[in-house]
Amino acid sequence: MVDNATDARQWEYTTFAPKGEQCPECRRPIESLESVRRGTLQRPPGPPVVVYRHSACTTESE
Ligand SMILES: [Zn+2]
Repeated sequence: MVDNATDARQWEYTTFAPKGEQCPECRRPIESLESVRRGTLQRPPGPPVVVYRHSACTTESE
């Protein structure tokens, strides 16, 4: 039985990132026309943080 409780990342959909966003995977800025995956990082006790990653940097299956 697989327990995914430790993976708090939730990738919602493919979109475009706002200007100035940076990919947390490759640490490079995201270009305005690059497609990215929008997601949230659960960082208790704080609120979820919205992050954007390059689609190529996203390893989760569709
Ligand atoms: Zn990246």
